[in-house]
Amino acid sequence: MAISEYKGVWVFAEQRGGEILNVSLELLGKGRELADSLGTKLTAVLLGDQVKDIASELIHYGADEVIVVEDKLLKVYMTETYTKVMTKVINERKPDIILMGATAIGRDLAPRVSARIHTGLTADCTSLEIEEDTKNLLMTRPAFGGNIMATIICPDHKPQMSTVRPGVMVKMERDECRSGEIIELSSELTEKDVNVEIIEIVKEEKAKMKIEEAEVLVSGGRGLGKKENFATLELLAKELGGLVSGSRAVVDAGWIDRDYQVGQTGKTVRPNLYIACGISGAIQHVTGMEDSDLIIAINKNSTAPIFEVADVGIVGDVEKVIPAVIEELKAL
Ligand code: FAD
Repeated sequence: MAISEYKGVWVFAEQRGGEILNVSLELLGKGRELADSLGTKLTAVLLGDQVKDIASELIHYGADEVIVVEDKLLKVYMTETYTKVMTKVINERKPDIILMGATAIGRDLAPRVSARIHTGLTADCTSLEIEEDTKNLLMTRPAFGGNIMATIICPDHKPQMSTVRPGVMVKMERDECRSGEIIELSSELTEKDVNVEIIEIVKEEKAKMKIEEAEVLVSGGRGLGKKENFATLELLAKELGGLVSGSRAVVDAGWIDRDYQVGQTGKTVRPNLYIACGISGAIQHVTGMEDSDLIIAINKNSTAPIFEVADVGIVGDVEKVIPAVIEELKAL
């Protein structure tokens, strides 16, 4: 089949326990844009057990149609079953572009699917655009430790596949008036396809909200001096109804958990307000937070690179500035 015959933009709609992940909704937002510029359909692909009821949600977030494959063997993600079903559906329908979240599941599934259908995969993209002349997908991702941004194309094979980290793309406004088609397909799986036995699923207790979902982040860097000073950041975050995050330096020092790291090897965040406290502004950190709506930086060094991306810069000692800000907020 000629590669020009591959049509449509697909988003793998990742769900856990019947709940669609935010990253999949974000990819639908980007997918909508790509599909519109190619004049093609946006399709969400939903695999699971008894998941049909949530398919309309994907339409509300931008999909024209949803391919649903329900099977009790798809209830829990397993590499082999999901790879087999995705490969089958792709081979039958031949989409032009496939997007998946760079989550634990997406990172497991995407390379296997791409190998089986003999196409390329660009992982961890931060930008996706359609090249005007060729209609190729331009997939941009950080490379060489974040020192360059590499734009990759896959011109000789289809589909063009990409994974995108959570928090990078923007989801559309939910619109209940949007309508679309729901296409049910059979998985054709048998018990023989299941080569793993799941004995028990232990859910990690996550007391806090995820930093990718917070509207306000108070982020601490090595300039805080010691782990104990994060308590002051917690107080400020509490006053603002936000969460505390940090740079990799403080994660490596054991001052905060890795789940709260912002940056290239951490999370990409886009809060309404990002307060960088004692963070130098290394490119690997900035990559993860530069799209925040309002960035306030507090640093004692007036030439710190963080001030280049900050909307408001405060040159000062975090140990003095943060308690003063908390006092002001309490007085409001
Ligand atoms: P520093 O660079 O040490 O900066 C501390 C800042 O605090 C300085 O600007 C200083 O002027 C200021 N300061 C000191 N004392 C005070 C005070 N009392 N009051 C106010 N300001 C003060 N980093 C990330 O954050 N996220 C990532 O995902 C990430 N991924 C990486 C991936 C790779 C492949 C590599 C090579 C590096 C990565 N890094 C990442 C590390 C990154 O390069 C920086 O080393 C790191 O971000 C520095 O953290 P920092 O700003 O907290 O510390």
